[in-house]
Amino acid sequence: METDCLFCKIVAKEIPAEIVHETGRTLAFRDINPQAPTHVLVITKDHHADAGAVADADEGLADEMLKAARAIAREEGVAEAGYRLVFNTGAGAGQTVFHAHLHVLGGRDLRWPPG
Ligand code: 5GP
Repeated sequence: METDCLFCKIVAKEIPAEIVHETGRTLAFRDINPQAPTHVLVITKDHHADAGAVADADEGLADEMLKAARAIAREEGVAEAGYRLVFNTGAGAGQTVFHAHLHVLGGRDLRWPPG
């Protein structure tokens, strides 16, 4: 755990969050500032700064995040209509929390390209 990391504090239950899904190595909770009717963040329980660090980390961890996202999309009822998975990676791409998280967005018409 990184002591100054917001998402590590959510994993440690030091900061509340509306948790919707959990696996052995991931936790998923609703985004505090949702950009779609369904906006859930899938994070790694261990601290990894971004998606690239997850790819370099434990075997199968990125796969576990993807499978959690798919389960959430089904549970939220957005899988059939379509949903978007986003890893903002680096400040220039809009990453503001440097603990790896996968955005799961759905429940509205999603345009392309994103802003
Ligand atoms: P990023 O911009 O790094 O890709 O995404 C960070 C996300 O974390 C944002 O969508 C933001 O709304 C969300 N967020 C920031 N602080 C909190 C918090 O304290 N609780 C929850 N649930 N989400 C947060």
